[in-house]
Amino acid sequence: MTDATPLKLFNSLTRSVEEFQPVHPGEARVYTCGPTVYNYPHIGNMRAYVFADVLGRTLSWKGYKLTHIINITDVGHLTDDADEGEDKLEKAAAEKAQSIWEISRHYTEAYWGDVKALNIRQPAKWSIATDYIDEMLDFAKSIADKHCYELDSGLYFDVSTVEDYGRLARAVTEDGEGRIDTVEGKRNAADFAIWRKTPSGEKRQMEWDSPWGKGAPGWHLECSVMGEKLLGFPFDIHTGGIDHREIHHPNEIAQNQAFCGCGGLSEATNSGAKIWMHNNFLVERSGKMSKSAGEFLRLQLLIDKGYHPLAYRMMCLQAHYRSELEFSWEGLQAALTRLKRIVMAVERLKDAVQSDAPHTRFNPLVEKFEEAISDDLNTSVGLVALEEVLAVKKVDAGIKRAVIERMDEVLGLSLIGLTRTDLRIRPKDAQIGEDEIEDALARRKAARAERDFATSDAIREELTAKCVEVMDGDSLGWEWKLGD
Ligand code: AMP
Ligand code: ZN
Repeated sequence: MTDATPLKLFNSLTRSVEEFQPVHPGEARVYTCGPTVYNYPHIGNMRAYVFADVLGRTLSWKGYKLTHIINITDVGHLTDDADEGEDKLEKAAAEKAQSIWEISRHYTEAYWGDVKALNIRQPAKWSIATDYIDEMLDFAKSIADKHCYELDSGLYFDVSTVEDYGRLARAVTEDGEGRIDTVEGKRNAADFAIWRKTPSGEKRQMEWDSPWGKGAPGWHLECSVMGEKLLGFPFDIHTGGIDHREIHHPNEIAQNQAFCGCGGLSEATNSGAKIWMHNNFLVERSGKMSKSAGEFLRLQLLIDKGYHPLAYRMMCLQAHYRSELEFSWEGLQAALTRLKRIVMAVERLKDAVQSDAPHTRFNPLVEKFEEAISDDLNTSVGLVALEEVLAVKKVDAGIKRAVIERMDEVLGLSLIGLTRTDLRIRPKDAQIGEDEIEDALARRKAARAERDFATSDAIREELTAKCVEVMDGDSLGWEWKLGD
């Protein structure tokens, strides 16, 4: 455990940066809201898991024994936050004429494929919501009398029965404050279903018996229950995208307060977790992120266009997780370029023999790196420290490599394993492949050696015409990049 530089994290509940003080000494317990598996994840969704991964890696790096849970929502998430819409999985199953189980298996596997491609570490457990129905029923029964009421459509949580409802969102509970009523008979606009009854005369693909009739759990209930069962209240950190700060997490918190019989939220642990963290959105101005827009931005689309998936991870790491990040192909290209320059510099260290010599030379940069990531996960400054290590001249390559390897435990860019060849752009419809570029560069080098500058210039122009810019004199030895 490194006490010298304490880990500081931004807590959305208090809206301030706080020093991480584990609930259980030496341990870190983290719950991350996982995907609703009714469709492929888009790359914005994956930003949420890259962020949670960097958090988990940082905690491990600092010596905490990490227990990370990510759930898979395969029931209960409605198309509408006001409890009126359809279950997203039921809807997808009806549209595709498949069973919900087939739908959820297919998209869970697709999500796991993206997790792997982005070098996101496996959590201690992927908790699947439908595996916890009994526990959800027990939880709901334990709070029903004091905190809930029944309507025809289900069991509703009365948000006025807990203190400080909505503090996380900084929302007030009166009508008209962005909270939606819609279900007839709700006591407060913000009340929400913790159990949805199957309408009489209907049969749902996914339904279970309950004291309130056949039905399915509410989405918020799932996360409260899996968090409590697997990590115990209070656990250390709960994460999700910034949209969850507005409805899903305030509702989880209200249920947790009810379950614990605890008081208001001026004591953060009464919320069920000590720290609530939220990543900001990845945005794309033309709307390609929306899953309802037909073709949307999936990781596979980036791969099909020839980008290595870790270029997208690099793109995420270059921004602070609490800043909005705008996606563009130029931005992705720039991230790939940066990753490639680093990988080429690391490649040169690969054959180095590990040296036992003390590496005090790098101490200031290692400290800079640790300070950056300890400062609410400032990976963009961490990346600069890593590049500065690579730029240090005349030091033992083995020591340099060890420092890079250590930093990459947090960044997760696979810097030791990746090669320049892995990062080759291989678009399906490419005009020119890397082999051809390398061949042209070799011919140009030979021409220059013979002082045949006319041929050398002609080759450069030939490459420029195919959008490849030749980079003579690049300090990291990268010979070319894609132009516009
Ligand atoms: P969902 O499958 O819709 O529950 O979303 C999975 C995760 O992605 C949640 O943590 C969301 O908050 C997060 N998320 C959704 N859209 C974006 C986005 N555009 N950028 C970053 N995170 C997002
Ligand atoms: Zn959740």
